[in-house]
Amino acid sequence: MLIPCPHCGPRDVGEFTYGGDATKERPDPESASAEDWCDYVFHRDNPRGRHVEYWHHGQGCRLWLKVTRDTVTHKIEGTELVGPWAESAPKQGRDVA
Ligand SMILES: [Zn+2]
Repeated sequence: MLIPCPHCGPRDVGEFTYGGDATKERPDPESASAEDWCDYVFHRDNPRGRHVEYWHHGQGCRLWLKVTRDTVTHKIEGTELVGPWAESAPKQGRDVA
């Protein structure tokens, strides 16, 4: 599977580390209960089909990406850089082969 990093271009999935479900929202530390944190940290869905995930390009630019992927076909609809550096990071605009 190739992941099209917006910074580096298409790269083998072996260069990346899966970072979890990108649709979960971090609880508010001021008001979250222990159950809220337990759900956020430990409970995961196992979706079939389109899913948005975090991936870290550890053997490339070392940036975090949000990847929209079909969990059945592994077809990737799109990727985007995430984090405070995303706006200023250079983009090469390469497509998946
Ligand atoms: Zn990269």
